[in-house]
Amino acid sequence: MKRIAVFCIPAHGHTNPMLPVVAELVSRGDEVRFYSFNEFREKIEKTGAVFVSCDSFLPKLNAKQEENLKKVSTTEMSIQDIRTTLAMNDFMHDEFEAFRPDVVYTDSVCFWGKLNAWKYDVPMVVSTSTFAFNQMSSGYMKSSPREIADLLFGLPRVQRELKKLKAYGYKNKGLFALIQSDNSTDSVVYTSKRFQPFSESFSDHYVFVGPSVFTDKKPEKNPDRPLVYISMGTVINDRPDFYHKCIDALKDLEIDVLISCGKTVDIGSLGELPENIKVCPYVDQLDVLSRASAFITHCGMNSVSESLYMAAPMVLYPQTNEQAAVARRVTEIGAGIPLKDDSVGGIRKAVLDVIGSSAYAEAAQACSDDFRSCSGPSGAADFIESAPHSSNGVDIMKDLVRENFKLEILYNAFIIILACLVFQFISRKYLWIFIVLAVMLSFPVKKALQNMAYQRLTRKTNGSNQNK
Ligand code: UDP
Repeated sequence: MKRIAVFCIPAHGHTNPMLPVVAELVSRGDEVRFYSFNEFREKIEKTGAVFVSCDSFLPKLNAKQEENLKKVSTTEMSIQDIRTTLAMNDFMHDEFEAFRPDVVYTDSVCFWGKLNAWKYDVPMVVSTSTFAFNQMSSGYMKSSPREIADLLFGLPRVQRELKKLKAYGYKNKGLFALIQSDNSTDSVVYTSKRFQPFSESFSDHYVFVGPSVFTDKKPEKNPDRPLVYISMGTVINDRPDFYHKCIDALKDLEIDVLISCGKTVDIGSLGELPENIKVCPYVDQLDVLSRASAFITHCGMNSVSESLYMAAPMVLYPQTNEQAAVARRVTEIGAGIPLKDDSVGGIRKAVLDVIGSSAYAEAAQACSDDFRSCSGPSGAADFIESAPHSSNGVDIMKDLVRENFKLEILYNAFIIILACLVFQFISRKYLWIFIVLAVMLSFPVKKALQNMAYQRLTRKTNGSNQNK
């Protein structure tokens, strides 16, 4: 029997996948204390864990800070997370003294979970509610200029906050250690190895357990009367404009439609609803997805995983980079199509395309079979109970960083030699054109070289594993 301290940020998408794992740990007799927020009390207590409320430590936000958080500003989130950590410092000290956890199981972006595990030297397992991101897989996320500016200009402010941690005895390993995990961090990822991009670049400190869900329900679709489910998740779901367009797009079709609009939208403001369309603030999403023939989704990792688990193909309408990365992967495996045109006509066409072709449903079914063959919450619980883990030493990422360094030097040397040749034998006039071209091409060329190196190293590692 282990004592396990669980930490998560106040977000359904991050809390939900931890719940079946926590329920599994409790059922095995482990003593689990879940540090969370009142909004989640009910569902946490249902798992049998002891709920510990941390609401009083959340900083009071002004309008600008709230606005920044709504825009998913990494700077604002980091600053507020550090302030929360400091506000709960004395409380956590008493908790760690009294409870003496054997393991900390914390969400990957929950600063106070990670910082307290490091401070009190307790083995830590990170819960990764999105894909696992490293140098390879983060290529799936394209940062917008606004996000890059937010991170660059906000970094000095974040650094100032990070410095405050030291006085309280926290180890400041830098911002990136707080928002990303490396190949030596024990991590649970709620997807399959097949669905995770560049899965071979993660060491055996990562365990891919498949979607963490509380159901053994099987998909049960009605081909005669398809059900289309629409949800923008639980965070940025205040989109009456979009729900209006979906209603207009789907009202005359021979299908049923269910919209989960979130708790802030006034359902009355959507007007009189057609017979075939129902709108609710919140639904039992897994149950709905088991019956849905198509899902218009914002591409939150949980929603997409649940959709694939229930073999429901998707119309992909991502709103953030992380969601765009998930959407890209779904498109790659053929289980959905991106909603490029979000007009009434565009929505209707996308839905008809998805329910009209069996290829999308078949790809979603293949993914469902793959997910159902993963170790699930029980695999995650085994991994947490036996933390910390030692490694088999295979770390493709380390080799890849070395290869990349070599390739980068080769590429730069090649460009310099070519530039000299242009300068010497063609014309000085064209030199600037050459340099602009070389800079523009450098990113895709280096990316392609990196991908080739990844494939080569993966083949080599798999080959040597087979020979063992
Ligand atoms: N969810 C639900 N009912 C709803 C809407 C959402 O149960 O009506 C759940 C959904 O099953 C998923 C989570 O809320 O587990 C949403 O997480 P996701 O990562 O998809 O998106 P986020 O809300 O974090 O943007």
